[in-house]
Parts: sequence; C-alpha cells; structure tokens
Amino acid sequence: MKSVERSNSSSRLKAVSGQDRPPHKIDFAELKIDALLVSALPNVRYLSRFTGSNALLLITPDSFTLFTDSRYTIQASEECACRIKIVSKGPLEVAAVEMIKRKTFKRIGFESSRISFQAYERLKGTLPLGASLKPVGPLIEEMRMIKTADEIARIRRSVLTNSEAFEKTIGSIRPGVSESAIAAELEFKMRRLGAERAAFETIVAAGQRSALPHAQPTSQKLGVDELLLIDMGSCQNGYMSDMTRTLFVGRPTRQIRSMYKAVLNANLAAIDIVRAGATAGEVDRKARQVLESAGLGKSFVHSTGHGLGLEIHESPRIGKKEATRLEAGMVITIEPGAYIRGFGGIRIEDTVLVTKHGCEVLTPTSKELILL
Ligand code: ZN
Ligand code: ZN
Repeated sequence: MKSVERSNSSSRLKAVSGQDRPPHKIDFAELKIDALLVSALPNVRYLSRFTGSNALLLITPDSFTLFTDSRYTIQASEECACRIKIVSKGPLEVAAVEMIKRKTFKRIGFESSRISFQAYERLKGTLPLGASLKPVGPLIEEMRMIKTADEIARIRRSVLTNSEAFEKTIGSIRPGVSESAIAAELEFKMRRLGAERAAFETIVAAGQRSALPHAQPTSQKLGVDELLLIDMGSCQNGYMSDMTRTLFVGRPTRQIRSMYKAVLNANLAAIDIVRAGATAGEVDRKARQVLESAGLGKSFVHSTGHGLGLEIHESPRIGKKEATRLEAGMVITIEPGAYIRGFGGIRIEDTVLVTKHGCEVLTPTSKELILL
C-alpha cells in the first residue's frame, strides 16, 4: 500500500468549525476513545465537505484527516480544508490503521451501524496489538439533526426547485401518459431548474396503484376518473427536499373528497403542533388521531414523517413511540396518508422547519385537491 500525505496545517478542524457551521465538539474523554473513524459518506461530507464516493475520516482531539483515493486528488484539495491522505493502492481502512499505528492511538471509535462487515473485518485484522475498536452510536447523525443557517438555506432552495418542477409539469399531464413518462418529466424539470438529481426514485402511482405507499413508476397509463399520487424530492447543493401531492383525473367521488379531506386535516393538525419542545411521538399521534376519527386509522400504514438533510431519511423519525423532542432548526416531513387496497391511496407531504414557537412549512405548493 502506498499513500501520499498532503497536509494543510492551517486548516485543522476548520471544516468543522467554519463560519457557517457551529463548532462540533466530539467529547473524546466521555466517549472513552482516542480517535474516531467516520465511515458514513454523508457524515464525512458533513464534517469535511468532501463529496466523493470513497472516503474515511479519522478524527482525534487535535487532528482531522480525510482518506480517499487518487481519483479524488484534485476534488478533495478543492473541497476540504483538513489534512488529506491520498491512498493510491489498497483499502482506505488499511491506510487509516497505518496512521493509528504511527500515532499509537489505542481506543478507536467507529460507526458500528454504518460500516460494512468486510470493512470492519479489515479494520479488526490490521489493528496493532493493544488497540481496540469501540462502537459509537449515531453521534454525527445527532449533530446533523439541527441544521445550520447554511443548511436551511440549501434545503429551502431544494424545496423550491422541487415544487417548481412539480408545478411546471402537472399542466401537461393527460390521460394516456404513463407513470414512467411523468416521473421522467418531473426529474428532467428538477435538473433543468438546478437540482443535481432526484433525491430518490420519483414515485408516480396511478389509480389503484396509489394504494402502494412506495410504488415504482411503471408503463401503466393514466386513465380517467382515477387518483394520481406523486412523491418527489430534489437534491440540490447536496440537500434534499421531499413532497407528496395527490391529484385526481376527472371528477372525484364523494368518497375520494372525504378521504382527501381527512388526510389533509391530519397533515394540518400535525403541522399545527410542530414546535420546539413537542415530541416526535406527539406529532405522529396527532395525525393518527385525525385519521382514526375519520375511520382511516388502519389505512395509515407508515409513520408521519422523518428528518431530512444530506440524506432523504434522517433523524428524527416522526413515529408513534418516538420520544425525541423537536428542536428549533430541525427539518422534518409531515406526510400522513391513507391507502385502501383495490381503491387507491392519498398522501400529502410537506417539508417543515421546526422553530422555537412553531414551524415554517417550507413547501409552497397548494394542498387543495388538484383536478386534471
Ligand atoms: Zn416523500
Ligand atoms: Zn418523506
């Protein structure tokens, strides 16, 4: 294994405590570790700004090193202010262990839920005698729950792009167009409007298929007098957005209208209680209560929402039993839905910023039932 070391001394930890980031303190003493190995790429990006697809970060109380391979020599030097080690041969873990050996670190924290078994085995197999691996929980993910002003600005941008792509597409949706063609058009538009890519595979589900909460678009063509569920997200400047709207082609029946109203009321009621201090569980139970009282309790088969940011699904999860207290600066989705087999499904999802005394719904798109 050959590695090239390049040090940028003025920058130690600068990436973590840059102007638009609060200084993240990792309490090595409390964690009882000498060094922390960060392997989850979104966590690597969060801490170092590196956007490549192969990297490890080794953090100690007084050093901050990014390991990546030679495809990323130029990119890493442009994006990161920390020390960079380009590994030209062999796995990154082995290069990280070389440094661990040289610096005689003993207790190495690692992200146990975000490392492959193979990488773990490689680490374990090459660690020097006397050194040990210590699993740490979702430490960086917890830091990421509260967004900085810069992150909120990026999410806002991503949300606006997403809504604009939706609004610029729905006017051209007609019976006879396939789910896949609608999904392709939405993704084309979001990229034309500035997104790097879709945040996830766009969900377009027509008719009875809208009862599948995570339907993949198919060649099925949109008919008349049926529901159309669109769940889409953009990734812009690395940050995600997430929105669902349910449309109707033709004239909706009373049953559709009342089901739509119940889901909308659940969405509004949950948003109404989102504020710093409320628990994620309270928000979920509120949405559930509204749907239960409309006789749709059993049709609401998923949790009310999730955090988002560098990833589409982040903490906190907005689920029935979640005790996490919401804090100002968290960005979450509120997405109650009702799904009936053989009939169809309705979901209404917004991206919401938690504030001290309430919340701000970032999604500008109307929630009235859209008729095509
Ligand atoms: Zn969604
Ligand atoms: Zn979502």
